[in-house]
Amino acid sequence: MMLHRRDGSRPGIRVFVPATVVRAAMVLALLVPGAAASWAAPAAKPAGAPAADLIVTNAKVFTVDKGRPECEAVAILGDRIVATGTRAEIDAWRGPSTRVLDAGGRRVVPGFNDSHVHFVVGGMDLDNVDLKDAPTREEFVKRIAAQVARTAKGEWVQGGNWDETMWSPATLPDRTLIDKVTGDTPVFLARYDGHMALANSAAIRLAGVTAKTPDPPGGAIVHDASGAPNGLFKDAALGAVYKVIPPYTREQRMRAARRALGHAARLGVTSVQDMNPEYADMAVYAELLERGELTTRIYNAPPLAGWEDQAKIGIRRSFGSPWLRLGALKGYADGSLGSTTAYFFEPFSDAPGNRGLLSDEMQPLSRMRERMTGADAAGLQLCIHAIGDQGISMILDLFAEVAKGNGARDRRFRIEHAQHMAPKDFERFALQRVIASMQPYHAIDDGRWAEKRIGPVRIRTTYAFRTFLDRGVRLAFGTDWSVAPLDPMQGLYAAVTRATLDGKNPAGWVPEQKITIQEAVEAYTLGSAYAEFQETEKGSIAPGKLADLVILSDDIFAIDPKAIRNVTVRVTIAGGRVVYETGL
Ligand SMILES: [Zn+2]
Repeated sequence: MMLHRRDGSRPGIRVFVPATVVRAAMVLALLVPGAAASWAAPAAKPAGAPAADLIVTNAKVFTVDKGRPECEAVAILGDRIVATGTRAEIDAWRGPSTRVLDAGGRRVVPGFNDSHVHFVVGGMDLDNVDLKDAPTREEFVKRIAAQVARTAKGEWVQGGNWDETMWSPATLPDRTLIDKVTGDTPVFLARYDGHMALANSAAIRLAGVTAKTPDPPGGAIVHDASGAPNGLFKDAALGAVYKVIPPYTREQRMRAARRALGHAARLGVTSVQDMNPEYADMAVYAELLERGELTTRIYNAPPLAGWEDQAKIGIRRSFGSPWLRLGALKGYADGSLGSTTAYFFEPFSDAPGNRGLLSDEMQPLSRMRERMTGADAAGLQLCIHAIGDQGISMILDLFAEVAKGNGARDRRFRIEHAQHMAPKDFERFALQRVIASMQPYHAIDDGRWAEKRIGPVRIRTTYAFRTFLDRGVRLAFGTDWSVAPLDPMQGLYAAVTRATLDGKNPAGWVPEQKITIQEAVEAYTLGSAYAEFQETEKGSIAPGKLADLVILSDDIFAIDPKAIRNVTVRVTIAGGRVVYETGL
């Protein structure tokens, strides 16, 4: 139970007195012996039990609870669900001060849990220049010029998420394209996959990078015909510029976190798993928790390189409260497909001789093994980014070695992205019980050009949602926001249709890897909860679980799958509080 939460007095949001929480605990003790709640409790209200604080009724509820997959109404007391059932059954929980939300027959699902976001970065990007959908080079330059005009002297222009594949010809930008409009303002704009960025000349000067600067391990500084840096930096080389950018202030982070929380609430995202937060971001989350301002639950996975920081004070996986936890770590095996830095067994089809890049963390491999072994022995959870088939294979090897060395335990190793699988590796992925933490939106984005890069054979086991599920691998869905939009409807649409963003694959790109909408919702709720050791606390709508649920504008199970991406959220409830609502 959450007895620690201090509810603020935000307008429109219910304030729960501690007594309510105590009463909820009493009712749950009556209804739900033990912590696990994934069974169908009787919906009938026990004699003497207090009335519900909130009832959602007249709904089509998809519970993701095998004991009762569908129901019509949900009763909430404090921050927990106390009953699910028919309208009549739940009506018995109504009291004089119960708020009743009539869903008007609309679809209700558990709150979405995005298993892979960059939350503060995402919040910052809501204020940054957005280049992702700049359709031409001219528009790209125009938007950068406008952002420079808005930026205070001496401050950096960052963000961007540009994507040269939108342009024709689809050639990479360089500093000469933007120098004229940026002048002395330092500019460092990330490609949308985060594995490449474009600096202008002012930024290159501040970074002290010259023609003579060597490439760091796991990175590349791209040069022009004269040998000078052309403005593009890849993977580990990004650090050469990032290190001269002043760190964000607490106020900047706070503003970004609040923007991100508001955005998440609007989209029905009631939990996020934050990959590579800076410690200063985690401090901001803790401050927001203390003020009762967290409306989305956050699980932190700071960089693996700092694993000893958590280990030395005894923090283990999933440590914390229902709103804010840590105990996970994010590491990197390789880069990305878009930047030709994902690590493959065979060369890229469009870049002979190039198989990608292992990350600097993997060089030498013995150091990666040491860090992973130490972190796992300390009880921390490992979430490792791996995209290319050999990158994934090497991480599976390391996971096996670590598990063997440290002994059997429920450790829930995760591979983040798991995009391009070698067919031989599905079986051990399942046997080792590794979680595939995937972002379906990338499939309809990369699907526009991935075949050109890796050929017709390797695409068959690319974003292999169907094969993973058929082999018994657990999926956790997310977005990688701000790499992709945070909106869960885009991800569900992508997993179910695999219709690429360019409209060229209306029946689905590699259609045999499509999954059903039920499977996709489960991966995005219970699957993500499992990936953070929270499946007994959230991820389904069942008595005893945290009251995180959303009312949708349309029934995603009944409409044409193509229309799923237009569905919006009408109400978001997190921990029994209505954190977002628009007209029902
Ligand atoms: Zn990411």
